[in-house]
Amino acid sequence: MPNPLGPSIFITGANRGLGLAFVKELVKQEQVTLIFAACRNPDQADALNALAKKHPAIQVLKMDVSNDSEIAGAVKLVKDKLGDRGLYVLFNNAAILTETGAEYIKPDRKILEQHMSINLVSPIMVTDAFLSLLRKESSADKPSLVVNISSDNGSIQDAMTMGTAWGNIAYGITKAGLNMYTRYLGSGEKYNNIVAVSVHPGWLRTDMGTPDAPDSVEHGAEAVIETLSKLSIKDNGRYINNRGRDMRF
Ligand code: NDP
Repeated sequence: MPNPLGPSIFITGANRGLGLAFVKELVKQEQVTLIFAACRNPDQADALNALAKKHPAIQVLKMDVSNDSEIAGAVKLVKDKLGDRGLYVLFNNAAILTETGAEYIKPDRKILEQHMSINLVSPIMVTDAFLSLLRKESSADKPSLVVNISSDNGSIQDAMTMGTAWGNIAYGITKAGLNMYTRYLGSGEKYNNIVAVSVHPGWLRTDMGTPDAPDSVEHGAEAVIETLSKLSIKDNGRYINNRGRDMRF
């Protein structure tokens, strides 16, 4: 079974929550030699900086996912570090969620546009910027991976039965769009042996997930990484949970 993780991995929103938990989990893996941990304020990323001090594999870098020049700067830094090598895994993890309550309220253009920009347009732009590095060494036996961190809120089929529909409307719409992007990317890039998946990581205790979530972020990260390590080219375009089971589009 090919193991698509490593040696080089890029993670957005790596300073806290699930992104940081991915870094902590991946740094334990022997085959992972470079983890590019991107965040918008490295100067304030205390936990990530402390981890990077202990593990030279972790490269902390500045990248606001909605800032094209910072994306270009990150690509340059990664290219310089990798030399002739390619990038194996891109985690589009950074996202925002502004809850607006469970009842119907008048749509707020600013909130909708912020969610569109950060949760949907940005992963598309970030992926495009890293595509040539992802294509570089990917093969049928060891495909490169684009991991779009989605949510159960992105399921169109389940929207009628989810109690929180109005409260997460901006968020849910962007995650449904991200799932569509995964399908397009997987369909277009299968010829380059790139596997794109949307992953619902579980409801996890983070700032976004709140302390009421049933599962720890460490457990969520571990489960996602184990699932990713079992993926192959035939899994392209899937929308899965952290155990690799199909979610309903
Ligand atoms: P958090 O709110 O805890 O963390 C969000 C991360 O995204 C932070 O690192 C934040 O950085 C970063 N971020 C936000 N905007 C930007 C930006 N413009 N540029 C760069 N980074 C940015 O969320 P989680 O860790 O819980 O969520 C991680 C992913 O998991 C998200 O995609 C989320 O939708 C998904 N998810 C989470 C669930 C949960 O229960 N926790 C459930 C389902 C899906 P900063 O510190 O600078 O704000």
